This record gives sequence, structure tokens and C-alpha cells, in this order.
Amino acid sequence: MDAKQIELVAELKVLLRRTSEVACQLQKREQGRGTPHYDQIESAAHDVGLQLSRMVQQLRTGELAAEQTREATCPQCRNKCPVTTTNRQVTSVDGPVELIKSVAFCTCCRRFFFPQRKGLGLDARESARGFKRQLVILNAEVRSLKRVRIVVDRVPGQKISTNTVERIYLDVAKDLAAAEQREWNGVINGEVPEP
Ligand SMILES: [Zn+2]
Repeated sequence: MDAKQIELVAELKVLLRRTSEVACQLQKREQGRGTPHYDQIESAAHDVGLQLSRMVQQLRTGELAAEQTREATCPQCRNKCPVTTTNRQVTSVDGPVELIKSVAFCTCCRRFFFPQRKGLGLDARESARGFKRQLVILNAEVRSLKRVRIVVDRVPGQKISTNTVERIYLDVAKDLAAAEQREWNGVINGEVPEP
């Protein structure tokens, strides 16, 4: 780590401490008098963590969208097109996030394209990579679309249809077969192959 990184890590620690103190005050008010059950402490703390994660995801992609050049090359006709931003909701491992993304419209091809899509590894659909990875691994283990839906609803607490689970699973099935041949190298720690 360079000096700036060390400084930022220390700053983060201070701010997380402050965030935790505020979250505790809020918990205290919500829980009222008496000793709260540990479950109440844990679940309220977990919710704060989810909020933080989603906020980081949103800010970071917003920064990237702001850094994007004002013109992007249409992938189809190579025309230079003006870039603006748009909001788009994706489902991440920590719940839905409203992402700010750069978008361009090609007047020749009459189509929108997202200059940072490939770099970000997001496809045209609504699920982020980490969430897809969870679904694919779960489905491979439990071998039931319905059970995946139940587990995802009860464990991370996210609503998803069996159709979406099936679609994602089929999309990546070929890549998973290839990953199995490679003894799963790069799948758990890497990314779900591009559908
Ligand atoms: Zn074009």
C-alpha cells in the first residue's frame, strides 16, 4: 500500500466507527428499554452493512460513468456518438442497486449502447455478477430451480423467479461445463462466465 492508501484505510476505519455509533443509537431508539434479543442486534447491524455495500456500488459506478469520455464509438458502425448517463437497477448480492451508467445513442444504427458494459462485465439484464455467481453455484448444488428460489428468498432475502434462475443457469451452463473441465479454476474466485 502506498501512503495515500494507508491514509484512506485509516479514514475509512474512523468513518466506519462513527457509522457504527450512529447505527447503535438508531437501534437503541428502535428497540426501546430492556435487553434486546441478540437477533435484533445482529439483523439491524446486517442491514447497515447491506446499505453500505449498495452505496459503495452506486457511488463507484457513478464515478466511472463520470470519468467516461463524452464520445464513444458505436460497436456496430464505428460512428462517434455523444455519451450521457442513465439510471439502471441491478440486483447485487446485497440487494437492488440503482446504478448510474454511461449510455450513448447511435443515430445511424438507431440504437443505444453502453460504452462501459464490457469493462464492467454487466450484460443487458438485471443481475450483477456476484448475484449470478451465487445463483449458479446454488443451482448446481441443489439441482432445483424452486429450491434455489426458496433459499435465495430465505437466506440473502431476495425475491427472484424460478424463470430468472433457469435463464441465468442455462445462459452459463456451457461455460460451467468448460469450468468443470478446468477443475473449477477461476469460477468461485473469478466471475460467472458471460452469458
Ligand atoms: Zn452505429
